[in-house]
Formats: sequence, C-alpha cells, structure tokens
Amino acid sequence: MDTKLEQKPLGLYIHIPFCHTKCTYCDFNTYTGLENLIDDFTESICNEIEFWSITDKYRINSIFIGGGTPSYIDVENLEKIINKINSNFKISKEIEITMEINPEDVTDKKALLWKNIGINRCSVGIQSLNDDELKIINRRHTANKAINSINILKKYFKNVSIDLIYGLPKQNLKSYVDTLEKIIKINPTHISAYSLQVEKGTYLNEQVFKNEVVVATDDISAEMYKKTQNILKKNNYKNYEISNWSKNGLLSEHNMKYWKLEPYIGIGPGAHSYLEKKRFSVIKSPKKYIQSIKKIKKNKIINIEEKIRFLKKNTFFEIYEEHNSKNEKLEFLMLSLRLEQGIDIKDFKQRFSQDFDELYLNKLKHYFKNNILEKNNGFYKLTKKGKLFANEVANNFVD
Ligand code: SF4
Repeated sequence: MDTKLEQKPLGLYIHIPFCHTKCTYCDFNTYTGLENLIDDFTESICNEIEFWSITDKYRINSIFIGGGTPSYIDVENLEKIINKINSNFKISKEIEITMEINPEDVTDKKALLWKNIGINRCSVGIQSLNDDELKIINRRHTANKAINSINILKKYFKNVSIDLIYGLPKQNLKSYVDTLEKIIKINPTHISAYSLQVEKGTYLNEQVFKNEVVVATDDISAEMYKKTQNILKKNNYKNYEISNWSKNGLLSEHNMKYWKLEPYIGIGPGAHSYLEKKRFSVIKSPKKYIQSIKKIKKNKIINIEEKIRFLKKNTFFEIYEEHNSKNEKLEFLMLSLRLEQGIDIKDFKQRFSQDFDELYLNKLKHYFKNNILEKNNGFYKLTKKGKLFANEVANNFVD
C-alpha cells in the first residue's frame, strides 16, 4: 500500500523564547538575559523534535519559527533545528518555512544565511513606522531601520510579511495612516495588523494604570481598522482573515491551519499544539523545559496517541484538553468567522452532522438585517462592517 497517499498535512511551530529587550505590551512567553541557555535550549528543541518524529501519518507542509525573536539567535542553531526536522518528518515539496524577524537583526549576510538554511517566508515585526511610537513601546529599531530591513529581505525572499499594531501610545489616526502609506510604498506581500491589547502583567498595563501613557479608545481603534481595510484594499491587498491581508494569494499557510482547525505540533516552551483532537501546551519556563526534555529524550514511542499520553504523564504540559464535539464546533465557528470566506455550511454539516440554519439562524437574524452578516454561495460571512462585530456574533455560538 502506498502510505504517501494517506499522509495528512501537518504544521510545526517552533518557539524560540529569547529577546534582546522586552517590548512594553508583550505578554508572549519570552525572556531577556537568558542568552547563556541558547545552546542547551537548541539541543532540547532538537531532542523534542526527535521525540515527536512522525513519518507515516502526517507530512509537514508548514513550519513557523516564532518567539520571542528567532532572528536573535545564531543561524547555526536555527540550521540544527531545521536539519533535525528534515531527518524526523516527511516534508512536503511545497513547504512554507516562516521565521519571525526583528528589523534590528537584518543584514545582507544574515538574510542570505537564513535563505540558505531553507527559510522561504519572513514575518517582520515592524509595528509602526513612527519613531516616537516605536520608542515608547521599547522597540529596538527605528522606522528607517525597519524600512531598510524590509528592502534587504526583499532581495532574498519573495514572501515578506510585516506585522503592525494600531492603537499604540502616542499614535493618532493621522500617524497611523502615515505608517500605512509608508508600508504601501515598501510593498510587502503580506500584512498583519492587530489592535493593541493591554494585557495583565505587562509593563504597558502598569503604565496605563498609572496614567503614564494613553492608548487608543475602542472608537479610535475601530476607525484605524476601517482605514486599514480601505487603504489596503485600494492597494490590492485581500483581507483574507480579519487581521490579515495578502497580495497575489500569498496568505500564511501556517496560520491558515490555526483558523481552519487543522493539526499542528508546537515545539518549545509554552508552544501550543492541536493534534488528534487534543489541545495541549508545553511548560513555559525555558529552564524547566530543558530539564524535562532530559526525561523524555530517550523514549522511542511510535504511536502518536501514546506520545501524547507519555508527555502528559511526565508533566510536560501546562494545558491539556480533549476536544469534544461541543468545543470543536464552537472553535470551528469562531475561527471560520474570522476568515474572508466565512463559515462553510457544507463542511459544518460534514463535521458535526447538524444543520447550521436549524441551530443558529434564528439567533443571527438581526445581524443579517443590520448588514453585519451575509450569505454567499453556501458560506455565512461577516460583511466589511461586520468585521468590527466578530466577537459579538461569535458569542451567539456559545450554548
Ligand atoms: S520582540 Fe516580540 S516577542 Fe520579543 S518582547 Fe518584543 S513583542 Fe515580545
């Protein structure tokens, strides 16, 4: 029997939890001052990859090296990780390999090295192209450095994505539009624009609490989102997910897995996985992670379910939950709503053996009347205006 025909696509996320400095708004699992751990950490990541080693059921078609700041660590470490993946998984020929990059780390020499180890998509954290805004959130780079970095990366990579944040301290509608217009001139293939979230435990939260900085109100943020929609649409970017725009169909294959509820394995401290209808995340502390890997590295378990059970038993996970059809349905609906195509009614029926209209149409009537939801060729999707009400609409799916 040809097993290749049966291999399902799988994503791999690799978490690199090191940053040179901490941005004020950041609540990701990332640390400064732990550079002495980088070599041990790389070995641990390689050991975890070896533990997962799957060559029959799945074929990797996307790898996302995120963090933290993967571009901050030496390319030799990144190369070891990619080589380890290649020798422990079946890899699709059209694989997308994305790496998150801080503009401050970009040089011609490094860009070429990243390309040579197999990276074929860059995701660059620009956030803003206004120096005052960058400074107040403690970004390492200036606007000029960010622009130069993108121009360098474009020489080596066809697919360059940039991240923006709107609603920043010191930002107003005019300065945000100015950033967007400068971005349009650089012409990246993909743009992610997220509204600033003031998360508990961040320095920004403390600053806001003490009235040291002011962030945009919900109304201003909504205006900024509308500007993003209009300006990017005018410049041929397709808003394929609420916060993501792409040109020439170059959407993020890896992130599409999250939004379409497809399987992926997260490797590294704090990384999340969705596999065999289970969600789990690895312990967050890099030091504990390195210690824990020592316990699991010699185990050669073949069966995927057994691997998961083994890790759970050895307290390798911080979060673990088994998906039942109720929470799978809720996630499917919430995530589908974020996509431009919307909720696929046929797919819903196939997955859950239930009729979407019978379950929800009554509850949603008022959104159709108010031009927030629309039906289009077997899909229910948010209208342009409706994208501002995604969370409110999604709440109707909670029983
Ligand atoms: S560079 Fe990214 S991961 Fe690192 S502190 Fe800033 S926002 Fe967080």
